[in-house]
Amino acid sequence: MWPRSLRALDAQLNQSNYYEASVKRPAAASPLQSALQADVLIVGGGLAGLSAALELAQRGLQVVLLEAARVASGASGRNGGQAIVGYACGQIPFEQQLGAADAQRAWNLSLQALDLIDQRIAAHGIDCDRVHGYTYVADSARKARALRQECDELQQRGVACDWAEGAQVPRLIDSPRYRAAFFERRSGHLQPLKYALGIARAARAAGVQIFEHSPVTQLRRGATLVAHTPHGMVKARFGVLAGNCMLAEHGPGVAPEIAPRIMPVGTYIIGTAALDPACCERLIAAGAAVCDNNFALDYFRFSRDHRLLFGGRVSYTGRTPAQLQHLLRQRMLRVFPTLQELPVQFVWGGFVDISMNRAPDFGRLGDNLYYLQGFSGHGLALTGLAGQLVAQALAGQAGHFDLFARLQHRNFPGGPLLRTPTLALGMLWYRLRDALA
Ligand SMILES: Cc1cc2nc3c(=O)[nH]c(=O)nc-3n(C[C@H](O)[C@H](O)[C@H](O)COP(=O)(O)OP(=O)(O)OC[C@H]3O[C@@H](n4cnc5c(N)ncnc54)[C@H](O)[C@@H]3O)c2cc1C
Repeated sequence: MWPRSLRALDAQLNQSNYYEASVKRPAAASPLQSALQADVLIVGGGLAGLSAALELAQRGLQVVLLEAARVASGASGRNGGQAIVGYACGQIPFEQQLGAADAQRAWNLSLQALDLIDQRIAAHGIDCDRVHGYTYVADSARKARALRQECDELQQRGVACDWAEGAQVPRLIDSPRYRAAFFERRSGHLQPLKYALGIARAARAAGVQIFEHSPVTQLRRGATLVAHTPHGMVKARFGVLAGNCMLAEHGPGVAPEIAPRIMPVGTYIIGTAALDPACCERLIAAGAAVCDNNFALDYFRFSRDHRLLFGGRVSYTGRTPAQLQHLLRQRMLRVFPTLQELPVQFVWGGFVDISMNRAPDFGRLGDNLYYLQGFSGHGLALTGLAGQLVAQALAGQAGHFDLFARLQHRNFPGGPLLRTPTLALGMLWYRLRDALA
């Protein structure tokens, strides 16, 4: 049976979230209960919406942000916390569609996105457990060759990498599973909910009015945008849609033309009890975040309080896999068999907004309604950049935003009803390839 409501599944997946358990949120902002006027309306209080709101308010614009639930209660407060160089699609869509010079600009922007995280942490005093360091791993000879290529490409682009294979691998990660690995310091990790709440605090301080429990159910377009929530209304000259996979769930008519261009893919994480710090350092050198190069990848790292946060096991049908905790624990033990006795204390998940070609999907509907989606699992860093670009575009410097807006995107075949089964079939093939490796 297909799930009836993606929203219900999404809420269920947030019930045992380690980040929520380790953070004290401020009291909920009150829902919108009046009619307001603003320069810019932001729909969605994840990292994309918060980042856009902060940047716009810093440019002197009056900003109202409407969030359907709590700020950063979506993917932004649940993710693996891995801030990764580049794009999920690699450079090919940029090179093919935009040419070499603009592809290089897009690459540079991805590096800027990483720098922006550090700049914001410093500028707004955000304590979010930031660590620099990332290890990429491969579990077969074929994947080790692909990893070597990835390593060489990164080095050619100026990212210093430390390569290891065979007996050298335990220098970077002490796991019997991997044939090759490399380490670089451009990418890294952080506690995403702490970071997002820090950006929300900075946005409020810059003057952004944030309303929680205020889903936008309808949006009238025109020279003035009019957004309706269950108990209020906002009129604004400009709008930014940053609702990710749940935008159409709350307001099916808000932007029906962009919803079919992303696919909600479920991904899940377990959090273990704390380990001895020396054991963490022995298992993963330099406190790095790790991910493999399988199509259905494993991604993991230690938290500041020495828990292993281990993610993986994607679902392309929207349905949460049965025995999720058990399945993830099995995957974790394949990587670190010595952790057999380590209890799992948290299990949560959420939906990643993937686009067909895995390139970010930013653009404009008419001349005053912007949208940011399709982060395809690289949103932790790219949402910050997206917010900055949309603010620049609104302020009249459309250059970089239009770089992304020029990328062509396609709807997933089958429309909202059939896209999941169609993709699920396609993905089976890639999983089979991972297994045959
Ligand atoms: C389990 C998991 C692991 C991940 N791991 C990583 C990782 O390690 N590294 C990485 O880079 N990326 C990762 N991602 C992806 C990353 O989290 C996202 O790309 C990023 O958070 C997207 O931010 P966003 O603001 O677009 O969306 P969200 O954070 O989902 O925010 C959208 C917000 O909009 C609200 N909303 C929706 N519709 C409406 C409406 N109509 N009215 C009002 N509000 C609305 C929602 O309630 C939500 O709060 C992961 C995602 C998941 C789920």
